[in-house]
Amino acid sequence: MTTVNIISLNKTYPNQSLPVLKDFSLSLNDGEMVALLGPSGMGKSTLLKLITGIERPDSGDIQFDSSSILNVDPNKRGAVLMFQKSYLFPFLNVEDNIGFGLKVQGASSETIHTEVKRMLNLIGLPGIEKRKPGQLSGGEGQRVALARALVTNPKLLLLDEPLSSLDTTVRMNLQEAIRNIQRELGVTTIFVTHDLGEAMAMSDRMALLLNGEIVALDKPENLFHRPRSLAAARFMGVSTFLSGSQLPVKKDVCSSSEKMFAIRPEHIRIQKEACKDSTPGVVSDCVFRGEYIEYQVNINEMIVRARMPMPAPMFTHGEQVYVKFAEEYLFEVEN
Ligand code: ADP
Repeated sequence: MTTVNIISLNKTYPNQSLPVLKDFSLSLNDGEMVALLGPSGMGKSTLLKLITGIERPDSGDIQFDSSSILNVDPNKRGAVLMFQKSYLFPFLNVEDNIGFGLKVQGASSETIHTEVKRMLNLIGLPGIEKRKPGQLSGGEGQRVALARALVTNPKLLLLDEPLSSLDTTVRMNLQEAIRNIQRELGVTTIFVTHDLGEAMAMSDRMALLLNGEIVALDKPENLFHRPRSLAAARFMGVSTFLSGSQLPVKKDVCSSSEKMFAIRPEHIRIQKEACKDSTPGVVSDCVFRGEYIEYQVNINEMIVRARMPMPAPMFTHGEQVYVKFAEEYLFEVEN
């Protein structure tokens, strides 16, 4: 059970002019899973390397339960990493792979046997002790890798895009499995991903990392529905931004022409007939996605993107339509 405090970390790699992490701070409560979300190249893996001790920060501190770990030997820090690939030892069977960390710690073969069995039950794969990694599917391999990471009872679990190489069904099953196991063991976890859906499904809080800085940190539902900044809103899939003067409705709270408002695509409706507070426009694109349809509508050279669940009215390119913004879902964002 561990609280983690990452305090004002700065890191610039040798021969690089720009820092990868700038004054980076993040705190995790005991047993919390925080998703670190961001496009690639933003410094997510670098953070994990600093925590595990593969790299050292230029300044700042990393504390587990209020004690700095920067001068603790990397393999004594109690932070374990699970990667996109399972990296199991191919010549060892599942039991020896999972028990490896305990063996290194000097545990008895009886303890190792009991703990491996416990972990195999936990990951939903009892009885596969004698199989070799080559006899496991991608999803099973990742489950075993998770068991290997957790068997030593780590202080902090670091997941670096652990599901990105798996197909959708296996991925969804594993999202659920990892989340349940993480909750059951109560292990504090940082989950690195560039996948918004995955971050939302798995985390207690999401931290959005852009250019080495956290630009938003909140519960998934808050960040998804009300991101505070323009950059965070864009990453959350919001693409319609309106100045106060462009608002089709008067937002009584704060309608000022300098303010910027945003609305999610699913809160914009496209219809054939005009109605109160609707705005005329012309359909400029239309993409059928099965469960929903995406429209782009040109309103006086401003492109608005709407996402309507099926069944939805079908419009064609160039058709004159009316756009209705669900007023209660318009929110203010900072530039
Ligand atoms: P992410 O995990 O978000 O994709 P990384 O932390 O891997 O981002 O990388 C952030 C930036 O730091 C990238 O521009 C990458 O090229 C650079 N970088 C990563 N590792 C090194 C290194 N060992 N030496 C120099 N530059 C590096």
